[in-house]
Amino acid sequence: EALKSLNFIEHIVEEDLRNGFPKEKLRFRFPPEPNGYLHIGHASSICLNFGLGLRYGAPVNLRFDDTNPAKEEQEYVDAIKEDVEWLGYKWDTECFASDYFQQLYDWAVELIKMGKAYVDSQTSEEIAVQKGTPTEAGTPSPFRNRSIEDNQQLFQGMKEGKFKEGEHVLRAKVDMASSNMLMRDPIMYRILYRAHHRTNTDWCIYPMYDWTHGESDYIEQVSHSLCTLEFAMHRELYDWFLDQVVDKDLVRPKQREFARRNFSHTVVSKRKLLQLVEQGFVKGWDDPRMPTISGLRRRGYTPESIRNFADTIGIAKRDNVVDVSLLEFHVREHLNKIAPRVMGVLNPLKVVLTNYPEGEEEWLEAENNPEDEAAGYRQLPFSRELYIEQEDFKEEANRKFFRLKLGGEVRLKNGYIIKADSCTKDTDGNIIEVQCTYDPKSKSGSGSEESLRKVKGTLHWVSAKHALSAEVRLYDRLFTDETPDAHKDKNFLDFINPDSLQIISAFVEPSLADAKIGDRFQFQRMGYFNLDPDSKSEKLVFNRTVGLRDTWAK
Ligand code: ATP
Ligand code: MG
Ligand code: MG
Repeated sequence: EALKSLNFIEHIVEEDLRNGFPKEKLRFRFPPEPNGYLHIGHASSICLNFGLGLRYGAPVNLRFDDTNPAKEEQEYVDAIKEDVEWLGYKWDTECFASDYFQQLYDWAVELIKMGKAYVDSQTSEEIAVQKGTPTEAGTPSPFRNRSIEDNQQLFQGMKEGKFKEGEHVLRAKVDMASSNMLMRDPIMYRILYRAHHRTNTDWCIYPMYDWTHGESDYIEQVSHSLCTLEFAMHRELYDWFLDQVVDKDLVRPKQREFARRNFSHTVVSKRKLLQLVEQGFVKGWDDPRMPTISGLRRRGYTPESIRNFADTIGIAKRDNVVDVSLLEFHVREHLNKIAPRVMGVLNPLKVVLTNYPEGEEEWLEAENNPEDEAAGYRQLPFSRELYIEQEDFKEEANRKFFRLKLGGEVRLKNGYIIKADSCTKDTDGNIIEVQCTYDPKSKSGSGSEESLRKVKGTLHWVSAKHALSAEVRLYDRLFTDETPDAHKDKNFLDFINPDSLQIISAFVEPSLADAKIGDRFQFQRMGYFNLDPDSKSEKLVFNRTVGLRDTWAK
């Protein structure tokens, strides 16, 4: 940890500490708007802010930036909390910008009294036109010089519900000629007759983001307020609003920006993810194909793998696209260490061992995880009829095919060496059964000369009589294009992969009857899987988290 190089935000904090900022006053926050579920892009911001908290022993608030009642819901608040906790972080205080509505209102009244805010009674179109262009100064509103008394009265009337939506707004009186368009008398409040998920109908005026964010940071005494680059131009306004209220003796929050992360073959914008949910392209926010934290969790990702991924990509000063195969690399690496190995046959082909006594069975010992001695061993049933993968048998094949072919031998993992003698086909010519003989002396681990005999291939298998049938869901990328939302002439929905979900029925070893929802396994040779919440005791459902190797064609 000490050796890990600092990111540029950590350098900023270090410099502030060197310049005398007291370490005990460091405080951070993660400020989601509860208008959707968290996604993998948020993981970067969560790991950054909570990582700073851990590094400096500083508190980190979870702040819900809930100033837009039209889009926000309690369901999202609950989901966000669950996801941050699942990622392994603990916030100091759960805060809501809506808890500051009264304080923000009182400060707005102060601004009016200082002559720094006014009620504008023009339409939003008129206001927009008067903003001017970056090279041309804006035109002052005809209401800019309203008297303080009139402004006070009108603003109070706005709060009391005396006006219709759009009839008035409150604007800060900053600078209509500023080269920063955001400084040209930004709107602080608008009238909105919408019930809020927390304040209900207490308010019919709602503060805008710029007016809310910095003041919320100040109320919470956040020392470093980290946001994404699109807010860089807002910093001047953030500072201007703080100038109006800060007390010298209190911490003055500092806004700093880092680059938003984009990821290949997916979209990370709550608005777009909501479209996928609402238009039925996925089954919900936690669909395993979604780049949401809840989707990744359901898919079988571990919190550690997401944190390691976020740490590896770090934070950047420029926008860029991260290849999702890097995320897959991290989950594969973690699951390799922790996931018990089991046998699951995805596309079953029956094998009959003609020299194995009918009606008999035996139990073989199998190691649970060669990467983890403590994982121990389990018993696997073996009998005359087995299933292997269809693709593991061919009637004829060249020398490079190290699986089963007529006249050839393979080892069954943890079991015996078998030889294929003949096969049966259906009327369409599909192979439906392979007849084999097994070498009774070749049992794995028995120490016999035959058990040590080398054969080229080792196959996974299950005993037909003992196997459990299971539904297996295999996933492909949700989008066929690497950057689905970066095309000017096309909508991201045009790139939906129609084959992103494949459902098959498989056979798995009987030990999986005890698996619990969320348990993760390596199905030998087939990838990593976890038990989906749709599972019932009579029908197990597994999601493939990721294959064993990166197989995406480049
Ligand atoms: P969205 O477009 O998905 O709604 P947002 O930035 O509006 O994104 P917020 O809920 O406001 O979403 O985000 C909370 C925090 O997470 C903010 O500080 C935001 O900058 C950060 N964040 C959001 N998306 C990303 C991303 N793709 N990469 C890095 N940080 C992000
Ligand atoms: Mg936001
Ligand atoms: Mg947003």
